[in-house]
Amino acid sequence: MTRRILSQGEQFPWRVAMTRTALSDTPGEPSPVPSGTVTSGNTPDLRDYDVILANSSAGKDSQATLDEIVRRARELGVLDRVRVVHADLGQVEWPDTIDLAKKQADYYGVPFISVARPQGDLLAHIEDRAVKQILKVQESKKAAAEAAARGEPIPEIHKAAPAFPDAKARYCTSDHKTGQVRKVMTDLARQLHESGQVTGRPVRFLNTLGIRAEESPARAKRIPYTHDERASNGQRHVDQWYPIHDWSTADVWNRIRESGAPHHWAYDKGMTRLSCAFCPLASHGDLLTSARLNPELAQKYVDLEHRIRDMGVPYRFTQAHSMEEILEEAKALGPLRDDERVPSGGCPGGGCDNFPEGEQPDDDVETDGPRHNPISLGIPSIPIHRAAAILSEARRMLTDRRRVYR
Ligand code: SF4
Repeated sequence: MTRRILSQGEQFPWRVAMTRTALSDTPGEPSPVPSGTVTSGNTPDLRDYDVILANSSAGKDSQATLDEIVRRARELGVLDRVRVVHADLGQVEWPDTIDLAKKQADYYGVPFISVARPQGDLLAHIEDRAVKQILKVQESKKAAAEAAARGEPIPEIHKAAPAFPDAKARYCTSDHKTGQVRKVMTDLARQLHESGQVTGRPVRFLNTLGIRAEESPARAKRIPYTHDERASNGQRHVDQWYPIHDWSTADVWNRIRESGAPHHWAYDKGMTRLSCAFCPLASHGDLLTSARLNPELAQKYVDLEHRIRDMGVPYRFTQAHSMEEILEEAKALGPLRDDERVPSGGCPGGGCDNFPEGEQPDDDVETDGPRHNPISLGIPSIPIHRAAAILSEARRMLTDRRRVYR
C-alpha cells in the first residue's frame, strides 16, 4: 500500500464524513457519544494518539491532570508520547510559574515545551488594544462628521471593545494560550511528518486540559472527550479531553499530595486560583491577596490604567474596581506575612479556570477586533496624530517574546 503525507488543507475521507454531536442538557438523557474522536467511546485510548499534550499553567488542576495522564500513559506504555506545554504569560504570571511548570514536567520525566505570544505579553497587549480602540472611535467619528457635512447618511460610530479582558472578551486566553499551543501542534505535526514517524495521515493529538465540572454550571455541561474541529486541519487531527472533569477540589489536592510533585506556593498563601497574578475575573479576595504579594506588578497595572486614562478613556481593570483601588486596599492591609494564610473566599466570578459564561477559554481563537460588551466612549480628548504617536510608542515597547522551546 502506498503511504503519503497529506498536503496542506487536504483531508482524509473519514474526516470529511465526520459529524459532531451536540450536548443535550435534558436531564435523564443518555450521555452523548463523542463523534469524530479517534477512539470511539467516552474516554480516549491513549495508544490511539501520536502526541498527548498536557496543558499546564502549573496550577492545581493542570497538575492533577498531568499526574493522571502520566499514570495512564505509563500503564499503556506510551509515556514517550506525552508532552507538557506551558503558555508563558510573561510578567503577568506569578513569579517562577514557568520554572514550576518545568519542574513538574521534569518530576515525571516528560518533555516540557513553553510558548509565548511573540508580539508581546498581556500588559502590552492591553495597552495596544486600548490605543487601537481609541483610534477606531476617532476615525469613525471623523467619518461621521464628514458624511454629515456632505449631507450623506451618517455611518455608525465605532463602539469600543474593552481593553482589559473580561468574561466575554477573553482574548488573553485565546491569543496568549490557545493560539500559541496550536502553533506547537503545527511544529510537532511537521516534525513527525518530516521524520517519517507519521506517514499517510494527519498526526493525532490528544489535547488535555484540567477543566472540572465542579467549577461552574457551564463547565459541568461540557463533554469531557470531543473532537476539536477548529484545531484540526489536513496535517493534524486534534481531540480534546478533560481527564479530571468529574473530580472534586478535594480529589485534586489528594492526588497532588499523593504524587509528591511540587505545587505552587501561592495556594499556601490563600490563593484559590492561579494563572495571571491579576485576573479581571478573579474574586476580590484573590485580587487583594495577590496585590499584597505582588505590589510591584499591581503598580504596573496602575501605571497602565493611568496612561490609558491620560488618553481620555475610562478603561480600568474591571468595571467594579480599578487596580488603583485594589492596590490601595491591599496597602492598607499591609504586606502578607510569611506565616499568614488568607482565606480568599472562593472565586465566584471565576478565574482562568472558572468562566461563568460558558465560552471555552482554551479552544477559542479570537482576534483583536471589537467583539463583545461594546462600551460607549466619549470623544477622546487627544487629536488623532497624538493617538497615532501613542500607538506607535506602545508598539515599540512591546516585548519581543519569541517562542522558547526547552
Ligand atoms: S488568568 Fe484571567 S487574565 Fe489571565 S489569561 Fe486567564 S482569564 Fe485571562
